[in-house]
Amino acid sequence: MVPRVVLPRKTAATTLFLLAFAAAAAAQPVQYRVSFPAPEHHYAQVEVTWPAVSATTLEARMSRSSPGRYAVHEFSKNVFDVHAFDGKGKELKATRPNAYQWNIVGHDGTVRLIYNVFGNHVDGTYLAVDDSHAHMNMPATLMWARGFDMRAVRITFVPPASYSWKPATQLFPTNDPWTFTAPNLQYLMDSPTELSNYTLRSFKVKNPDGKEFTIYTAVHHDGDPALIDDYAAAAEKIVNEAAGVYGEFPNFDTGTYTFLGDYVPWGGGDGMEHRNSTVVASPVSFKNPQAARSVLGTLSHEFFHCWNVERIRPKSLEPFNFEDANMSGELWLAEGFTQYYGPLIMARAGLSPADPAALVRNALFVINSPARQFRSAVEMSEMAPFADAAVAIDETNLQTTFLSYYTYGAAIATALDLSLRGRSNGKVSLDDFMRAMWLAHGKPGGPSPAIIAKPYTLKDARDRLAEVSGDRRFADDFFDRYVEGREVPDYAALFARIGLVLRKRSAGAAWAGIFDSPFGGGRGRRGAGPPAAGSSGVTVPGLVNWGTPAFAAGLEEADTIMSLDGKPIGSVDEFQSVLRSHKPGDQIAVEFTRHGVAHRSAMTLAEDPAMEVVTLESTSGSLSPDQKAMRDAWLASKQRR
Ligand SMILES: [Zn+2]
Repeated sequence: MVPRVVLPRKTAATTLFLLAFAAAAAAQPVQYRVSFPAPEHHYAQVEVTWPAVSATTLEARMSRSSPGRYAVHEFSKNVFDVHAFDGKGKELKATRPNAYQWNIVGHDGTVRLIYNVFGNHVDGTYLAVDDSHAHMNMPATLMWARGFDMRAVRITFVPPASYSWKPATQLFPTNDPWTFTAPNLQYLMDSPTELSNYTLRSFKVKNPDGKEFTIYTAVHHDGDPALIDDYAAAAEKIVNEAAGVYGEFPNFDTGTYTFLGDYVPWGGGDGMEHRNSTVVASPVSFKNPQAARSVLGTLSHEFFHCWNVERIRPKSLEPFNFEDANMSGELWLAEGFTQYYGPLIMARAGLSPADPAALVRNALFVINSPARQFRSAVEMSEMAPFADAAVAIDETNLQTTFLSYYTYGAAIATALDLSLRGRSNGKVSLDDFMRAMWLAHGKPGGPSPAIIAKPYTLKDARDRLAEVSGDRRFADDFFDRYVEGREVPDYAALFARIGLVLRKRSAGAAWAGIFDSPFGGGRGRRGAGPPAAGSSGVTVPGLVNWGTPAFAAGLEEADTIMSLDGKPIGSVDEFQSVLRSHKPGDQIAVEFTRHGVAHRSAMTLAEDPAMEVVTLESTSGSLSPDQKAMRDAWLASKQRR
C-alpha cells in the first residue's frame, strides 16, 4: 500500500481547520542534510527534520524498492546508528515495528532523525560513497515518513572538506549551489545525485513551440576530458534522434536533462531512467576511446525512457510504491519497446552500423522460447519482482519458464512496427503509436512533477493501437494473440517486407535440446563438461527445457550422460558428434547416472529449431524496390533540427 494523506470525515469546521493545517504544513518542507564525514569508509550521514508533524507517531521508513526496479532491494539493511530528537533537541526513543521502519512518539511537532547509511555499489539503484564520489540513489540513501508524500523537500549536501566535488542532479536548484528542492516525495526519490569532480558539457535543444532545454552530460571518469567532447556530441545526436520519434521533447521540469555518467573501472554497469536525468554507468576506463564509445547504447535506451515510462507510465507503476515490490503487466511495452528503440535510434543517428538483421534479432529468442508455453508477454512482465535482481537462496525454474520482458517486448515492437508499416504501405509506423501514447498519456503531465495524471492500462494501449492503425480488429487480434496470448507473429512474412530472410540455422540437423542454446537463454548453473578428471560421462548443465527430446527422455539438470546410442560419452563434443550421425526422428538409447544410480532411456531426436535472420542480399537474392524503400524508411534519421 502506498502512503497517502486521507482527511478524516469530520464537521465542516474541523475540515477547514485540517485544510488550513495542511496548507501551513505544506509550507514547511522536510529538510535533509547529507554529509560524508569519511568517504573512504563508504557511508553518508543523513540528518532529516520533519516539521509540522500532526500524527502522534511519526513513521519513518527506508524504501524497499526503487523506481525503475521492480524487485525489493531492502535498503534498510545498510542503515545504522539511528538517533531521534524532538524540536528542542531532546533525544526520543525510536521503536521498530518492522524491518523497514522507525516509529517516533513523544515529539513536539518536530522530529529530527540522524543516521548513517553504508553504500559501496556504483549503479542506478544503490548508494556508493568513496573518495572519488558520492553516487546517491535516493531510495538507498534517504528515509522518508508516511503521510508526507506531497510535502515539499529541501536538501543540502555537504561535501567532505578539501574535496573538489560538485553536485549534479535533477533536483531543483536554489541560490545556494549545495541546496536543492523537490516538490514531493516521488520527485525526491526519482532524483539520483552525483557529487564528484565530474566533467560537464552541455548543449541546447528546442521544441517546435520554441521552448529550449539544456541537456547536460556530467561524467565522472578517469580519462581524457577530450573524449567527453565526443561523448557529448554523441549524446546530442541520440537526444535529437529520439525526439524525432515523438515530434518533441517532454517539458523537462527544471528546463534541463542530465546524463549522470559514472565510468570508473571499480564501478558497475547500469542505466537507470528518471524524469529529467539518467544514471549511466559502466566499469570501464575512459582512457580507452573504444570503451568510451561502447557505453553510448545505454544513453539511447535511457533517454527514450524520458517519454516511455517516465511520462507515458503504466497505471500499475503510478504512484511508485516504495513499500513493496512493484508489479506491472506492461513492462513488455515500458522496457521492451525501449529496448527495441535504443539500437534503432543509434542506427538512425549514424552512431552504429545500420545492420537490419541485428536490429530484429530479439525475435529469434522469442520464436522458439520454451518459456512462451507458460507465460504471455504480460505474464512475463509480472515476473519482474522475481527476475529483476531479486536474490534468494533456493532455486527457481525461471531459466526455462521466464523470458525477459526486454527481449519479448522488443520482439513485439519489431512485429508491430513491421506490421503497421506493411499494412499502410509505409504511412504508419510504431513511431506513430509511440506518439499517440505520448499525446494521450505522457504529454498531459500531472498536478506536480513526477505525479502522472493519465497513466495507461493495457486497454488504453490497445485502444491507441486501434486509433493509429485505424483498425480495431487488427489491434484486438494483435493484443489477444501476441501480447496477452502466447502466440508469435509470422516473423518470416514481416521480415520479408524489409528484405530480411528468417530461416533455420541448421535445417535437417538432429537435436536433443541440451548442450546448446537455440533460445538465447538456458545458461547452466553447474557448468557443462566431464564431472571430474578420470571419470567418464558429461553432466547436463542446467534445467532441461520443456518440450525438448531430452525432457521427454526424462533427463534433467545434473544427470551425467554416460552413453548415447551405445557410444560412451566423455565430452559435449562427443555428444554432438553422435547427434551428427543421426537424423531428426531417430530414436536412440541414452544411459545416464543420477545420484549414483544408473538409468537407461530412449530419446527421439527432433530437428534443431534454432533460427537465424540474414539480409536478402547475403543470400544471393536482391531487394525489390518496395523492400528497399521500406527498409530505408525504417532506418532513416528522423532527427529534429
Ligand atoms: Zn529500460
